[in-house]
Amino acid sequence: MSEHFQPETIALHTGIHRSQFNEHSEALYLTSSFVFDSAAQAAARFSGSEPGNIYSRFTNPTVTAFEERLAALEGAEVCVATSSGMSAILACVMGLLSAGDHIVASRSLFGSTVNLFNNILKKFNIDTTFVSATDVASWQMAIQPNTKLFFLETPSNPLTEISDIAALSAVAHQAGIWLAVDNCFCTPALQKPLELGADIVIHSATKYLEGQGRVLGGAVLGKRDLLMDGGVFGFLRTAGPTLSAFNAWVIMKGIETLKVRMEAHSAHALEIARWLESQPNVTRVFYPGLSSHSQYELAKKQQKSGGGIVAFEVKGGKEAAWRVIDSTKLISITANLGDAKSTLTHPATTTHARITQEARDAAGISDGLLRIAVGLEAVQDLQNDLARGL
Ligand SMILES: *Cc1c(COP(=O)(O)O)cnc(C)c1O
Repeated sequence: MSEHFQPETIALHTGIHRSQFNEHSEALYLTSSFVFDSAAQAAARFSGSEPGNIYSRFTNPTVTAFEERLAALEGAEVCVATSSGMSAILACVMGLLSAGDHIVASRSLFGSTVNLFNNILKKFNIDTTFVSATDVASWQMAIQPNTKLFFLETPSNPLTEISDIAALSAVAHQAGIWLAVDNCFCTPALQKPLELGADIVIHSATKYLEGQGRVLGGAVLGKRDLLMDGGVFGFLRTAGPTLSAFNAWVIMKGIETLKVRMEAHSAHALEIARWLESQPNVTRVFYPGLSSHSQYELAKKQQKSGGGIVAFEVKGGKEAAWRVIDSTKLISITANLGDAKSTLTHPATTTHARITQEARDAAGISDGLLRIAVGLEAVQDLQNDLARGL
């Protein structure tokens, strides 16, 4: 039914399977397991010959409702929900790759993703080559005979670099490589990577999908044969980084307002970014909706608006950046993003502190860099809060 509706309608109606009580709001099924009518039915469910719920590590109606809704919004055949964004990335690589395989990844990735690839996957003999998020030729050059996966985030965290999804999917597919895109910053309200050629979409549902900073969740989306038969669902079923029914329910309610929230986040962020550009102590502003952004044209083509994340560099390095943070009274000092409340982070000493100085320099994370995830407060109040420390 969903393909006949517009996204804001899908966000409200897809995935609803009413119980015998005919509840209007989606039911929350807090149960570990499900009861069978007979031994024969139990056997049929376990063998897969009869569809239906078995055990909430891998089947739960509330989680399924969330998966159907997000899949419809991303234009994906299937969605595999996970306990967090990181476990979505883990399920993706553990499901699809084997020892001896190779990943080419953007150098501008979420800090924990870099650690997962560098420190954990390496132990299992999966190597990663990190390349520029923006230089398509460097991806091509990094391909090895054993390369299985391209992995990127766009816009990137925190510098909002834009990777050309269509161009990179063409490079990947020519070499029989899958392209995975972490769509956390844009969400399907602003960007649809599968339509642009990506094979896999990753989400930290903790962020904008949930929208109010309450619970963690994640998702892997793509084609049925890749995710269900290809091993991602199998990894989840066996290893258990499962999205809880409660979290699925909270995130699903968040998705209902995704479009209006993303439009508001983008509008507020653009105003803040323009204002920051006019501040004498701000040396650079990184925001895809600014015409000064080095990939403004690509961003305009690829995403509906700039999104809610603005990075900016202040004069005076770490000391000056910390002063901006410590002078705020309204904006929350926290590393989360995608919340209705604005948050402010110093990437070099928080989200990107565990990667080496060398890797930080290569990724352009300077000591004076700040990242604001612009929330839904009045823009004037946010400006006043930032102005004190600037
Ligand atoms: C937060 C985040 C993640 C990790 O998600 P969790 O839900 O915190 O595990 C991955 N990618 C990006 C871009 C993120 O912002």
